Amino acid sequence: MRLIALVDMDYFFVACEELRRPEIKNKPAIVGSDPKQGEGRGVVMTASYVARKLGLRSGMPLSMAYRIRKDTIYIPQDFEYYEQMSAKVMTLVKVYADKFEQVSIDEAFIDISKRAGDYDDALELMRKLKQEVKDKLGLPCSIGISVNKLMAKMASEDAKPDGIKAVKEEDAAGFLSRKPVGELYGVGRKTGKMLEEFGYRTIGDLAKANPVVLVERFKSYGAELHNSANGVDDSEVQENWEVKSIGRERTFERDTSDRHEITKAIREMSKEVGDELKKGGFAFKVVTIKLRYSNFEETLKSRSLTHRSVEPEEISQVATQLFDKYAETGEELRKVGVRVSNFVKYKGQKRMAEYA
Ligand SMILES: [Mg+2]
Repeated sequence: MRLIALVDMDYFFVACEELRRPEIKNKPAIVGSDPKQGEGRGVVMTASYVARKLGLRSGMPLSMAYRIRKDTIYIPQDFEYYEQMSAKVMTLVKVYADKFEQVSIDEAFIDISKRAGDYDDALELMRKLKQEVKDKLGLPCSIGISVNKLMAKMASEDAKPDGIKAVKEEDAAGFLSRKPVGELYGVGRKTGKMLEEFGYRTIGDLAKANPVVLVERFKSYGAELHNSANGVDDSEVQENWEVKSIGRERTFERDTSDRHEITKAIREMSKEVGDELKKGGFAFKVVTIKLRYSNFEETLKSRSLTHRSVEPEEISQVATQLFDKYAETGEELRKVGVRVSNFVKYKGQKRMAEYA
């Protein structure tokens, strides 16, 4: 029997902050990027459960969070610290895994089929893990157990906060059926809306839909939607999946030494890189530029920030500084590239691509 668990830390960034600032416990605290007195364009990365009850949500602009609650406690994000805590968590989790796949800074799938003979074993084992994480690190987590990754994820969502839930294969359909279709793992906001417009309000509606009709409406994604709604997922727990860097390169139509043209290309590429970072849920630390001259000589120059960032403006700024500092004056460029690396993954990826 296949037994998969998803271990997901509860409000991880705020929980980490509570460890070193006990005074924020039971208060509406959020972790985010610099709000600049409410004028900044940053967003809430994580909200404590108290903050969530008051209507503050991750992804919400900080300015809005302040409008909702003036006494919101804002804590600037510190990815280095969260990464250290994450490494400690994952070291504990790995001990319980036949196979281990970390999907984000605070989430990991583990295959426990070999060490747990049945659901009772699995529950006992995961209770032990949960207790160990709490005793040794002081951090809460939620764990879902089921027959595949999709169902383990859905079970863990149901277990939140600070719970454990097992859903057996024979109970999967019933467990899913009454949930709103937007809660199905992998369904983003846009797809959720489209599904509702087509009349599929619950996951059960979608499970009963004719797969041929779904494929007509949603192309290749339709079959996957139908499988998911029925709790079917064959994907394996995959070890060591990692994205190391994200970058763009541009070859100029005609070689150029025009600073305006080159920095414009840098800005555009930085924006694209920033969008991709956001999709993957990565924060970067290192910015690299590549300059290829007319004579095909190539220069690579990097700068490491003192912090991890998610801002496209920062990519563009650092890349432009590197260009101004290192480009050979007057030499024409064939190509320029911008790349960011040294990531922390701060959120899990939706399993399926957004349909739209
Ligand atoms: Mg989490």
